[in-house]
Amino acid sequence: MKKRLKKLTFFILTGILLLTGCNSGVSKYSFEGSSPEDSEIYVKPVEGLTDDFLRGVDISSYLSQIESGVKYKDFKGNELDETGFFKLLAECGVNAVRIRIWNDPEDKDGNSYGGGHNDLDTAVIIGKWATKAGLQVLADFHCSDFWADPSKQKAPKEWAHYTFENKTAALSEFLKTSMDRLYNEGVNVTMVQVGNEINNGFAGETSRERINSLLVTGTDAVREAADSNGKEVSVVLHYTNPESSNLLDYARDLKNAGVEYDVFAVSYYPFWHGTTERLTEQLQNIAQNYNKKVMVAETSYLYTPDDGDGQGNSVSLDTAGVVLGYDISVQGQSNEVRAVINAVKNVGDAGIGVFYWEPAWIPVKVYDPDSADAKGILEQNREIWETFGSGWASSFSKTYDPNDAGKYYGGSSWDNQGLFDFNGNPLESLKVFKYVFSGTTKELEIVKADNIYYESGIGSTVQMPSTIPALLNSGDTKDIPVTWNTEHVSEAEASGAGTYQISGIAEDNGIKYELLCTLEIKKINYIKNYGFEEADMSMWDIKGNGVAKEADNNKRSGEYSLKFWDSAPVSFTAEQKISGLPDGKYDLGAYLQGGNAGSNPVFELYIIVNGEKFAVQSGVTSWQNWDNPVVSGVEVPEGAEVTVGVKVKAAAEAWGAWDDFYLYEAE
Ligand code: CA
Repeated sequence: MKKRLKKLTFFILTGILLLTGCNSGVSKYSFEGSSPEDSEIYVKPVEGLTDDFLRGVDISSYLSQIESGVKYKDFKGNELDETGFFKLLAECGVNAVRIRIWNDPEDKDGNSYGGGHNDLDTAVIIGKWATKAGLQVLADFHCSDFWADPSKQKAPKEWAHYTFENKTAALSEFLKTSMDRLYNEGVNVTMVQVGNEINNGFAGETSRERINSLLVTGTDAVREAADSNGKEVSVVLHYTNPESSNLLDYARDLKNAGVEYDVFAVSYYPFWHGTTERLTEQLQNIAQNYNKKVMVAETSYLYTPDDGDGQGNSVSLDTAGVVLGYDISVQGQSNEVRAVINAVKNVGDAGIGVFYWEPAWIPVKVYDPDSADAKGILEQNREIWETFGSGWASSFSKTYDPNDAGKYYGGSSWDNQGLFDFNGNPLESLKVFKYVFSGTTKELEIVKADNIYYESGIGSTVQMPSTIPALLNSGDTKDIPVTWNTEHVSEAEASGAGTYQISGIAEDNGIKYELLCTLEIKKINYIKNYGFEEADMSMWDIKGNGVAKEADNNKRSGEYSLKFWDSAPVSFTAEQKISGLPDGKYDLGAYLQGGNAGSNPVFELYIIVNGEKFAVQSGVTSWQNWDNPVVSGVEVPEGAEVTVGVKVKAAAEAWGAWDDFYLYEAE
């Protein structure tokens, strides 16, 4: 591959030298007190926001993107050059950019690791464009040769074999010379981040003591560099998982270690990091207890579930373990940005800003898996990512990060979270950075009325809900009346236990919304605390040894099970009296797993009706291999005395668990 920067830098820098634009460092745009603007999206102003509140974007990939042939456009569809692009950001209310800096993101032959190829030269180029547009620059030093996050904090290659003392000196030297360069090139650096998401490490070190020692050196170096250049700078330290109870420990450790910094910054991704209320609370605690400014250094949200470049996206509809709390639309994305700005503003004066992560990391060529030339486009994209480093990682990263980037390299996993669409057109959500001052004239309206789920007990009339929560463009919900198909409901009632689809029509202001309700008619389980999830265990009468309710990996569902184990032979009964059972036929069931039961063990499930016992034997084989014994069709007369239970007799060291008991009326 070509060494792109060596070739391109000359032309770009030459071009820049000819442009002696404003370098005041103060955005020429003021948004305080502006009037509501016409827009297709609804944005409510954030109360008390001032022009100095940071509305930043991390556009680290920008240079590699335009080198890859990506064209960004304005709201009229006109292609933008670099000047136009950064001017557009400023006009939309952005007043700062964040740029990541890696020490040496290329292999020994000069091949880029990718990820935007963010070395110092790249930061200088992007930083100058931003400065010219009147934007502030946050220099984000990862102090690594490639991505630094909670799972990776690898030392730069050059420092890898240094003694700790030499590494400390190298860190100081690197930060000072890098900042001198940025200042000398006229980049308006107002903030410097020492390390990126440093929860678990920094520059190859993982012990808290060494991390903090390096942070003392790093923050001192930043201040010295600013002083010697006659500049003011805010020193930023950056963590992630702001929802975690550990967050305050970092601030405490920094204080104890004497690390002098100004801003405690966090990443906040709503699909991973809890609620905005929790975010405010955590940042407020740090601001108050440690007298620091706080901000969100990274946030983002998806406006589409689609992938635009053939590299699967980090977050989409089917991503496991994520909470998609906002609508996946330009409006939903706007609501997320506004909510995070509001959450930081709610901290009080210490809450200084929010940066959106990589809004311009869009496809280098748009890939549509259903199109005839999909394969060809993907091949072209792969070549472009390798050549210009515009994917998240290139194959050349394997010499530095063999187990992750070197294996799974490819394009942008963030293209569905852009503030530009796949073709480079700005989305209306880019303007949220100014709409948070002005608000928009868009009226509050319903965006959609989603299908719902509803549960009902068997044997009684199904009372369908009379209203459903409709999603508003503000992100809030509004309860609106709904009419259900009564035929569907009657059929479900007549069929008994099961899952049914009921169609309905909700209505608001004369607009109708068709939707479905998934109705689940559940059998009544007459056993109380059948899965041992409730704290109150008084309904269970447990006698014997080696048995207790426990929360561990022996459970079948929920958190708890009735677990047994003893070094002595295990022997117990667990019983529950059932009162007020309507007369009829019943099925009693439960689930059992375990092992080491010895020879001829007893695992009996039983029901006693007016003194008469009906029982079935069960057994154990191995861990999480559940047996489901059932006593079926037991006749229960009106007013009968009923007890259900299990009896266990097994060898010493026998182990296992009972869980999820049920007593249903037989079909
Ligand atoms: Ca993608």
